[in-house]
Amino acid sequence: MSQLTSSSERIIIVGGGFAGLSAAALLAHSGMPVTVIESSKLGHAASTLNQGWLHSGAWFAKTNPQLARDCYRSLQQTVKFCPECIEPDLGTMIYCSLSDQSDEHEWTQAWDKAGIPYQEVLDGEFNWELPQISRDKIAWALRLPDLSFRPSVLLSKLATMAHNAGAEIRSGTFVTGLLIEDQQVYGVRVGADEEMLAKLVILATGANSSEEFAPLFQEIAGTQPDYQLICLKTHLSSIRPGLSADPFCIVDGSGFNHLPHEDTSVFGAGRWEVVLNANETHVNEKEIEIIERQLQQIFPKGFAENVERHDWAGTTVQAMHIDQIEPGIAPLPTIVDHSTEPCGVENVLSIFPGRATLWPHLAERVRNTVLEKVGTSTIETAQPPWSLEAHTV
Ligand SMILES: Cc1cc2nc3c(=O)[nH]c(=O)nc-3n(C[C@H](O)[C@H](O)[C@H](O)COP(=O)(O)OP(=O)(O)OC[C@H]3O[C@@H](n4cnc5c(N)ncnc54)[C@H](O)[C@@H]3O)c2cc1C
Repeated sequence: MSQLTSSSERIIIVGGGFAGLSAAALLAHSGMPVTVIESSKLGHAASTLNQGWLHSGAWFAKTNPQLARDCYRSLQQTVKFCPECIEPDLGTMIYCSLSDQSDEHEWTQAWDKAGIPYQEVLDGEFNWELPQISRDKIAWALRLPDLSFRPSVLLSKLATMAHNAGAEIRSGTFVTGLLIEDQQVYGVRVGADEEMLAKLVILATGANSSEEFAPLFQEIAGTQPDYQLICLKTHLSSIRPGLSADPFCIVDGSGFNHLPHEDTSVFGAGRWEVVLNANETHVNEKEIEIIERQLQQIFPKGFAENVERHDWAGTTVQAMHIDQIEPGIAPLPTIVDHSTEPCGVENVLSIFPGRATLWPHLAERVRNTVLEKVGTSTIETAQPPWSLEAHTV
């Protein structure tokens, strides 16, 4: 016999990564009864497998200036809310080109348009401290506000904020399905026999959405759904001990990049491939070779012998509207209200941050969407602790 728990006034958030925890923190702060259900440990998936690049938006400025502005604002909000998650004693990111072909002016124009500040990097200012790197190789270099951050520290602060504001957080609990009657979701099924009632369910399940909740996104009677879930995979390689205190991004090609952490250097080739499902996290040697070739170009003399290497791959999901193109290029934070989709199911939203950096932007949009759906009487619009406006008053 199934067991009923929880009140029907509750908002249930499935998934305890950046999307779920930031939404939970803001909704609980606004006075809503919230429960977060996480199948494993908080943040165990993409939210901690990632590279720890707190984007200024500079990398996206040429393709999507609005996204770049949203990133820059989210970066400032993150620094205000959780300064301790920023890796200490490191520089901000150097964007550079190894080829004269890459037009510096095109980039600076895009950064001006997006309102992202940048500074000339003067000769001798490179903090790479590596005899192998020759300044002559670099056609131009500018310093931007991107930072290296510790995702687990930020996630834990969001969980604490949500908990202190009254949210219930259940980890190690798997949501096996939605309770639906007359095209209305009224709760979730947990494990084999527990049913939890809810006024609204928010799916923040990241890459796993594609499996458990796929019917919400599938075609109905031949209609093209408005959103499609695209599962993206990227490869990273880390070196211990770390190499340099400056994060850098080489703007040529797909944007080979480096994010330094406590005692490691994490490199990514900036390449995202579309994969069929979230479990495709095996390492593809060809992708690692691409990272290696880039490393050899920048560090032709190689590394010391005692360097420890670790390669891994991770997946994340974007919900892409049918008129969006090129997954991975412009990672848009997205809220899908399934009542307006072809499946027409009420009281369920799916949310995707696009990039971890965009958590405050997504949380604020989720709160506004929830406000519209449940009415304003039950929810306060108090400024969250990361609000930049509150700071300037
Ligand atoms: C390799 C890699 C590198 C990246 N690097 C960066 C970077 O440097 N900077 C940046 O800004 N972004 C980066 N990203 C993107 C960023 O990590 C993701 O956009 C973000 O973490 C997604 O957060 P999320 O909460 O949507 O998903 P997730 O972190 O995947 O969280 C979803 C959670 O839902 C839980 N869940 C799923 N199904 C269920 C269920 N049925 N019941 C209960 N719980 C469930 C999962 O266990 C998981 O914890 C990177 C991504 C990858 C893969």
